[in-house]
Amino acid sequence: MEARGWAECDFVFVSGDAYVDHPSFAAALLGRLLESEGYRVCVLAQPRWQGDGAIADFTRFGQPRLGWLVSAGAMDSMVSRYTANNKPRSEDSYSPGGASGARPDRAILAYTSKIREVSKGKPIIIGGIEASLRRFAHYDYWSNTVKRSILLDSKADLLAYGMGERAMIEIASRLAEGKDLRGIRGTSWRCGRESELPEGAIALPSFEEIKDSREAYCAHFTLQERNADPISGSILVERTENRWTVQERATLPLEPGEFDRVMELPYVREWHPDYDAAGGIPALAEVRFSLTSTRGCFGACSFCAIAFHQGRLIQARSHESLVREVTALAKSPSFKGYIHDVGGPTANFRAPACERQKGHGACPDRQCLGDKPCPALKPDHRDFVSLLSKLRAVPGVKKVFVRSGIRFDYLMLDPDRSFLRDLCEHHISGQLKVAPEHTSDRVLSLMRKSDHATYFRFAEEYARVNAELGLKQYLVPYYIASHPGATLEDALHTALELKKNGFVPDQVQDFYPTPGTLATCMYWTGLDPATGKELHVARGAHERALQRALLQFNKPENASLVREALATLGREDLVPALLGKKKDRPKSRS
Ligand code: SF4
Repeated sequence: MEARGWAECDFVFVSGDAYVDHPSFAAALLGRLLESEGYRVCVLAQPRWQGDGAIADFTRFGQPRLGWLVSAGAMDSMVSRYTANNKPRSEDSYSPGGASGARPDRAILAYTSKIREVSKGKPIIIGGIEASLRRFAHYDYWSNTVKRSILLDSKADLLAYGMGERAMIEIASRLAEGKDLRGIRGTSWRCGRESELPEGAIALPSFEEIKDSREAYCAHFTLQERNADPISGSILVERTENRWTVQERATLPLEPGEFDRVMELPYVREWHPDYDAAGGIPALAEVRFSLTSTRGCFGACSFCAIAFHQGRLIQARSHESLVREVTALAKSPSFKGYIHDVGGPTANFRAPACERQKGHGACPDRQCLGDKPCPALKPDHRDFVSLLSKLRAVPGVKKVFVRSGIRFDYLMLDPDRSFLRDLCEHHISGQLKVAPEHTSDRVLSLMRKSDHATYFRFAEEYARVNAELGLKQYLVPYYIASHPGATLEDALHTALELKKNGFVPDQVQDFYPTPGTLATCMYWTGLDPATGKELHVARGAHERALQRALLQFNKPENASLVREALATLGREDLVPALLGKKKDRPKSRS
């Protein structure tokens, strides 16, 4: 503040992440955006939240003139601190040296409570993924309970959900002018009187109803999902005892020019020098030479919250903006000629799913892809192919990789295979990671993924194109164990398919019931919200371990679990097939 000659700042931005001045980090992106609008922003990164040091940290910038902005960071703090099986993590790539322990559990609540202690009466605006996905009552895996809206528990004045640029500018301007904060797209607020609720708002089942009823929880989730679109969605309200949480309509997507501007603010693209001694911030290495090309995803997989956070409408940066960014990166002394990624939630979604989506938003009552792709879907990779060719041609660039996930089912729906050819020829190096996720078509349908036959068709096509190019490149498929609806029989089905194809995945992810996903709704309720039918859910650590072991049956440490799973299923006859002949079997650890 001294260096800038500020006697006070307009906002203090409290973040659970270390400070890195790069557009992949929200404190930098929103801080630079506010700065470009003339506001003075101080970033309080990873403050101490307990003990004597906490007061010193939360008062080091004095009282902000307009308010406090609070985010847990790029990840939900509980996901950042605990694994899918609820074990503490030892690393945190958003902290100095990658060490864990610099952010609290439930960071939004810890930070807002400390702010209330040191700053009476200043507005508190919460945002980021933790606040966004907990904006209404939600299932909380770590306490195994349904919790109220984080807006009520934190007593914040406003919650900004989704991607916050437009909302942030409007919030700042209203605070500066002393205006009311209600009615801003992309925000939620609370009130104590029914008479204050906006006209025409749709009422969700109340917190008390969804706490006690599985059916009400499903209806609550479905209504939120149907109203997540900024064009077709409505305002939603939820009652909790005698209070109300109001969600305004989602924010409209940034226009290409606006998106370009936000991504091209004058970021230094380095971590704060205070972290040098600890070895810096590992998360920067992932993104330093990567490009954010898009936002939004119309894939809407059940286990992913992106569609709920960024929406199903695609926002894409212009070619010119991305070429400018690569040209600037190529001048950096540490640039070795490699762009590590050109992506977004799904790399090969650079255009709206269909013509209709442009003007009317995403359909509330059907999915664009999933196991039955919409007939209106218009798969088209021409723009991405053209963009990649321009990036390859930037002087100083040796190779441009695409490392963000691609939807191979979308690719297979496009009769023009130029993208696949270019991808194999120029944009991967030896292997392509893809996510078939499972082999059971019933489970894939619950995941909103394409059937397994589509994956095999893609694998064949990929092999054919690489053979034509004279390249030896592999596919690395990823799978999820214990997704709601997946039984031990389904895991065995996957094991046998993998065995048949001579491939056992190194990477298997245990399903993680994080807030805001359809799959988490299934996990908690044991119901498929689309049909109301009962689903099997692997909840205990032991069944989850059995499913995972079947998917990685060749690992020596899994042998006894594989044997147990086969005995449970009455399929001991498959022991030789999965574990090999007795003389070749690995010794189990138990
Ligand atoms: S018409 Fe089909 S492709 Fe277009 S938004 Fe609706 S579901 Fe998606």
